[in-house]
Amino acid sequence: MAFKQETYDVVIIGSGPAGLTCALYCARAGLGAVILDRGMQGGQMAMTEWIDNYPGFHEGVEGSKLGELMFEHARRFGAESTYATVERIVGKDSDGILTVETDMGPLKAKAVVVATGAAPAELGAPGEAELRGRGVSYCAVCDGNFFKGQDVCVIGGGDAAVEEAAYLAKLCRKVYIVHRRDKLRAAKAAQDAAASKDNIEFALNSIPTAILGDTEVKALRVKDAVAGEERDLPCSGVFIYVGIKPATDFARGALDLDENGFIVTDNEMRTSMDGVYAAGDARRPRNRQVVTACADGATAALTIERILNEQPDRWRK
Ligand code: NAP
Repeated sequence: MAFKQETYDVVIIGSGPAGLTCALYCARAGLGAVILDRGMQGGQMAMTEWIDNYPGFHEGVEGSKLGELMFEHARRFGAESTYATVERIVGKDSDGILTVETDMGPLKAKAVVVATGAAPAELGAPGEAELRGRGVSYCAVCDGNFFKGQDVCVIGGGDAAVEEAAYLAKLCRKVYIVHRRDKLRAAKAAQDAAASKDNIEFALNSIPTAILGDTEVKALRVKDAVAGEERDLPCSGVFIYVGIKPATDFARGALDLDENGFIVTDNEMRTSMDGVYAAGDARRPRNRQVVTACADGATAALTIERILNEQPDRWRK
C-alpha cells in the first residue's frame, strides 16, 4: 500500500499555509490527518522571499522558513504527509466515507480538505511560452540569481509584482516594473519600498505585447496605453506576476467552482460535496494572504471536528 493507512479521518490536499494549518488543528484535535502534496511544502508562501505581515514575526520571515515551521508544527501533533497527485474525489459511500483517487492509489477519508492553492497566471503574450525557462520566469526567488547584474522586467502592478521587483533590485542592475495602467494596485507599503530603490524604474501605462528573443530573452515590447506607440525595453529576464489561477482542475465537475475556477464554499469552508471542504487560495478570489489562508485552514478543521463530534458512530472508529 502506498499510504501508511488506508483510511484517515481527514485527507488534506495541499501543503501551503491553509493545508498546514488545517493539519495542525486536525491533528491537535486527535484526528488522523494526512497531507498530500505533489511538490514542495509551503506552496506559494515558500516561493516568496520575505513575508513582512505575518503576525508574530515582527521583523519579517523568509517564506520558505515559515513553511518549514508550519510543517514541523503540524508534525509535532502527529499529522502525516506524503507525496501524491490527486486525480479525483469520489463522494461518500453508504458508510459515509469519501475516496480520494491519487497517482499513488486510492485513499479513504471521513473528510477531505482541498487546499491546493493557486499557480501563477500566464500573460498570454507572444514569446512567453517559447522563452519560458530562457529568461521568462514566474518566480523571482527561484530564478532571480540567474539575472545577477543584469536588467529585468517585472510585469504586473499587484503586491506580488511590486514586492518581487524590490527583491530583484537587490540582485539586478535595473528592474522595470511594467504595468498596464497608471496606478499600481499593490499595497502602499510595497509601493513605497519599491519607489525607494534607485535601480527600479516604473513603466506605467505600458501594455506588454511581446517577449522578444530567439533562444533567450532580449527585450520586452510594450505599447503605451495612451499614445499607442510601441517601444522595446532591453532586458535578459521577464518576471510575470499578473495574478494567479486556482489549482482546481481536478475538482471540475465534482465541486461547484466560480467562473474563474475558485471553489465555492460557505463560511465554514463547506463545498458543494458533502464532507469536502476548501481552504486558502483555491477558494479565495480576494484577500489572498498567508494569514487568511491559515484562518481558512483552521476554520475547515474546526468545522470538521464539530461535524464528526455530532456523529459519534463515525468518530475514531
Ligand atoms: P493581483 O493582485 O491580481 O495583480 C495582478 C496584476 O497583474 C494587476 O496589476 C493587473 O493589472 C496585472 N495584469 C493582469 N493581467 C494582465 C495582463 N494580461 N497584462 C498585463 N498586466 C496584467 O495578483 P498578485 O499580485 O499575484 O496577488 C494575488 C493576491 O495575493 C492578491 O490578493 C495580493 O494582495 C496577494 N498577495 C499579497 C502579498 C502580501 O500581502 N505580502 C504578496 C503577494 C500577493 P490591473 O491592476 O490593471 O488589473
